[in-house]
Amino acid sequence: MHAPGTPGAPSDRSAGGRHGRHHVVVVGSGFGGLFTTRALARDRRVKVTLVAATGHHLFQPLLYQVATGILSEGEVAPATRDVLRRQRNARVLLGTVTDVDLARRQVTSTSPGGTTTTSYDSLVVAAGAGQSYFGNDHFARYAPGMKSIDDALELRGRIFGAFELAELSTDPDERRRLMTFVVVGAGPTGVEMAGQIAELAHRALRGNFRHIDPRGSRIVLVDAAPSILGTFSERLSRAAARQLEDLGVEIQLGRLVTGVDADAVDLRDEAGTTTRIEAQCKVWAAGVAASPLGAQLAQESGASTDRAGRVRVEPDCSLPGHPEVFVIGDMMALDDLPGVAQVAMQAGNHVAGTIRARLRGETTTRPFRFRDKGSMATVSRFHAVAEVRGLELSGLPAWVMWLAVHVFYLIGFKNRVTTLLHWTVSFIGRGRSERTATLQQVRARQALATLEDQAARERDEDDASAAGEQLRHLTAAAGRPPSDAPRTST
Ligand SMILES: Cc1cc2nc3c(=O)[nH]c(=O)nc-3n(C[C@H](O)[C@H](O)[C@H](O)COP(=O)(O)OP(=O)(O)OC[C@H]3O[C@@H](n4cnc5c(N)ncnc54)[C@H](O)[C@@H]3O)c2cc1C
Repeated sequence: MHAPGTPGAPSDRSAGGRHGRHHVVVVGSGFGGLFTTRALARDRRVKVTLVAATGHHLFQPLLYQVATGILSEGEVAPATRDVLRRQRNARVLLGTVTDVDLARRQVTSTSPGGTTTTSYDSLVVAAGAGQSYFGNDHFARYAPGMKSIDDALELRGRIFGAFELAELSTDPDERRRLMTFVVVGAGPTGVEMAGQIAELAHRALRGNFRHIDPRGSRIVLVDAAPSILGTFSERLSRAAARQLEDLGVEIQLGRLVTGVDADAVDLRDEAGTTTRIEAQCKVWAAGVAASPLGAQLAQESGASTDRAGRVRVEPDCSLPGHPEVFVIGDMMALDDLPGVAQVAMQAGNHVAGTIRARLRGETTTRPFRFRDKGSMATVSRFHAVAEVRGLELSGLPAWVMWLAVHVFYLIGFKNRVTTLLHWTVSFIGRGRSERTATLQQVRARQALATLEDQAARERDEDDASAAGEQLRHLTAAAGRPPSDAPRTST
């Protein structure tokens, strides 16, 4: 049994709340955060505060379908407070966590409404991961990633917008550029995106245009690796490549992206030969980096992080030296587990079980054991690949399995029904009923980037003039003309 006040012990601090209940603060409303919260639903000794940067729970595996007009954003991102409306011991706070004070056991979050500090007895950090551009963050401006609803809606506007602009163009070279789509990264997300853009071009948009034939589009899938779907077996990787090529996707492997600008993508192969693919619409589906909260927690606790910024946790998912803090999901580095939804969900259930066991007075550490239920990736309608318990499937059987799993894990009855309806429209028919995109969605990233550049320039100018001012003060105080002033910064 923990002695009161020792780390990991049910605390008697005021954070226990009105009824002296153990206060669990959960950061993030993704798979890890939501499953932790729900696994604590029936425990009357616990109250849960879920703090998340967005008001929704995002089902990331279907984001590409929002980008390609199959599903609406609401279908893959129900409001978290609605999902948890019946869970009386849970409350939801909107806020981006900017600081975790491990000594005081407090979390600070900010929102447009201000700053909130929340005390905890146990903390579960599941803030996920963002896109990594491998040190080339400026690529993001021209090649959005695929991590958020914002990303998916922006890409929707860019994909459908490229066809619209091609219809307007009278210059054949410009048309070719507008109808070329480059997807960077041949993991499951890149494969799904490339497959769906190809389906759009070759099937769904048939008959929509008068001057262009979308079937003439060029869809290029690029990766530095030697094969697509590197985490799958060689046989399934080859099967997926064949399915993509049948759809008209051009696969370019062993090529590193060295530049992305408004007009094109630059590539370099292993022999050092460079090529430039002129393309209006680029999608970045390569690389992830854990939430910066990971680095902050690691620095404060002395824990280490891996190359993706994930925190190396103890076998029970707790932060080294802080048994009351857990780091799970895409932020957690443990046993080389992949950053997939199953790991986040199971880890969420596991840490909730640990917290409840501790409240019962159990002291033994419960190591997290991941039960691998298999992995799958869809290539296009009726085509997928799946690896389940040593069984390898491709084509229609894998696709049916993919469909069943995704409907099962979608949150909310209404979402399941409308999603099935949209899938019927898109996969049996040819329709894409969610093609609406606004100029704001397409231009927001560029506008924000421009504003940020401008703000940075103004800051530099302000800094320079403030430094000049400071210099004038110093030299005046020293009774010397500015040219003689010391050059070291003060
Ligand atoms: C396009 C795409 C397709 C995928 N497909 C699959 C698939 O087919 N199968 C599969 O198993 N996995 C898939 N994944 C991976 C899977 O979605 C993730 O592994 C899973 O979502 C991780 O869950 P998480 O809870 O760790 O993080 P997330 O689900 O990313 O949730 C993170 C949460 O934290 C919040 N947050 C972030 N920063 C802060 C902060 N500072 N303060 C407060 N809140 C914060 C976010 O708003 C979000 O609510 C896919 C991922 C992507 C991006």
